[in-house]
Parts: sequence; C-alpha cells; structure tokens
Amino acid sequence: MTEEIAPSDAYARTTTAEVIDVNATGVVLNRTVFYSRGGGQPGDTGILKWDGGEVRVTDTFRVAGVPMHAVEGTPPPAGTSVEAEIDWQRRHLLMRTHTALHVLSAIIWRDFDAKVTGGNMEPGTARMDFELDSISVEFGRAVEERLNAELAKDHAIRVLFLPRDEAFADPDLIRTKVNLLPPSIDPIRVIEIGDIDKQADGGTHVRSTGEVGPVHVVKTESKGKGNKRMRIEL
Ligand SMILES: [Zn+2]
Repeated sequence: MTEEIAPSDAYARTTTAEVIDVNATGVVLNRTVFYSRGGGQPGDTGILKWDGGEVRVTDTFRVAGVPMHAVEGTPPPAGTSVEAEIDWQRRHLLMRTHTALHVLSAIIWRDFDAKVTGGNMEPGTARMDFELDSISVEFGRAVEERLNAELAKDHAIRVLFLPRDEAFADPDLIRTKVNLLPPSIDPIRVIEIGDIDKQADGGTHVRSTGEVGPVHVVKTESKGKGNKRMRIEL
C-alpha cells in the first residue's frame, strides 16, 4: 500500500519515503507526493534522492492501482529511505490548468446547456470537447471573457470526500455521471469550486480560482456533429 498525499494536499512538494518495491517498470514507495496520471492530468515528474544517489522520475502512473514512479537511471534498491520531490513548477501549472478546465466546463454547462465529451491537458495548455451544435471564433471569445470573469471572482476550491450514498443523492454530481464510478470507490473525492462547479475528480487543483490567472481560448474547432473542441492556454 502506498500512502498518497496529493489527493488531500495538492501543495505538498516533498516527502520522505521508503522504497517498497523496484521492478522493470519503476519504483514503488510506501508514501508519495507524486500524482499518478489519470482523469486527463499527466503524471508528475521529479526526483528521488537518497544517501549516495539520486534519480529522475520521468512519469508516475498506476499499475494494478499502485502508483509507479518511472525513473531514468539506476533506481534505489528496496528498503532505501528516499526524499521524493515533485517538479513543483510543472505541477502547479497543471493544477492551474486543471482548475481552468473545470471552470470552463461549468460555464459551458450553465450558459449553453452543453456537456463535456472529453478533454486532455498538458502544463499550461488543454483542450476540451463539448456537445455543442456549433462553434466559432466569436463564441470562443465570448467564452474566454466569461471564463476570466469567473476566475477573477476568486472562488474557493474545496476537496471533499463524500460517502457514496451522499454523492449519489447530489444532483450536481449525478449530472457529471458519478454513478459510473466503480462500486469499490467509497468515499468519493469531489472538487467543489465555489458555487459554480462540483464534480467527482481525482486531480490536483489550486486553492482558489484567482490563482489560475488569465486564460485564453486559442482555438475552436468542429470535431463532428455535436462535438466541438476548444483549446485554452494559460
Ligand atoms: Zn478534473
């Protein structure tokens, strides 16, 4: 079992840990601050340091549910005490990007009745697809204005761990298909952005929307009937 710190404290950059397994795929720690790739958010990169060595972590992802730290070079052997540190600038940019996407999806739902059909993000840039009939440069500009206005309100962001029954009774969460989560997931982690958005989510977010900063809608395109794409940059 790996104790994961990011789900409850996205601002933790470093932790001491013990190597509990090493294999061809990577290093397993008893505790980690690294975020495992998922929900459209890339895995963290960073460094593992120990008495006598250090190694770069190039990606973090789950293997059979366990966070795996892929490393470049010779990994520390099992039993080694390490200091695990994420690339904070990259992660913080991902947190800002991820929060921007949630606010964007909230605006498109609230003002245009359209659901999200997909999305992906890199540090500082992301795309999101919506069930919209049409899209245009003007529409993108209008959305950009609303997005920045909403971000500037500095909505507080809270991480909630809701009992499954409670999550299933919440209309906002039902809308975001919380019922599709596997039955084994209980409690359900929820990201609440002020009074504008609430959804089950595994990712890392900033503390308030003011921390996201200005966002630009840099591209709008059609990906087919009822599927329109918007690309944003921070
Ligand atoms: Zn998310």
